[in-house]
Amino acid sequence: MEYYTCWLHHIWQLDYWGISGTDHPKRMKPGLINAWLECRCPHCRTGKVFPGPAFHPVRFHQMNESCPDCGKTFIPEPGFYFGAMYVSFAFTVALMTAVWLFLKVLFDPAESVYISSLIGSAILLAPLSFRYSRMIWLYWFG
Ligand SMILES: [Zn+2]
Repeated sequence: MEYYTCWLHHIWQLDYWGISGTDHPKRMKPGLINAWLECRCPHCRTGKVFPGPAFHPVRFHQMNESCPDCGKTFIPEPGFYFGAMYVSFAFTVALMTAVWLFLKVLFDPAESVYISSLIGSAILLAPLSFRYSRMIWLYWFG
């Protein structure tokens, strides 16, 4: 679903006054947290940063070079996302700590189960770690 900002609907609150004969969409521009969660442009909060689905096996990493709605660039300078690797590292450490604690508290399995679970969870959630580390970097420094 696409988001639109409609000044008329926003300012006059037409639904509140019982005027519903307009074609204006109900959803307004999303808030900062929702825009970040949906991987949308930090400037206009409507354009998608990643054109494809997160769990596409080959294209999960592809980014738009600029916002398809407002044109703001998502790559301000070469190597901009180099620092996002540190964020991704923090995500992976947090994930592995959570998986390790979960296994330790509930099951206390053999070492091979720990190793395979930690590696498997890190590989399975790598697309999300990749995307949200870049989104944090883009929202902070972009
Ligand atoms: Zn935009």
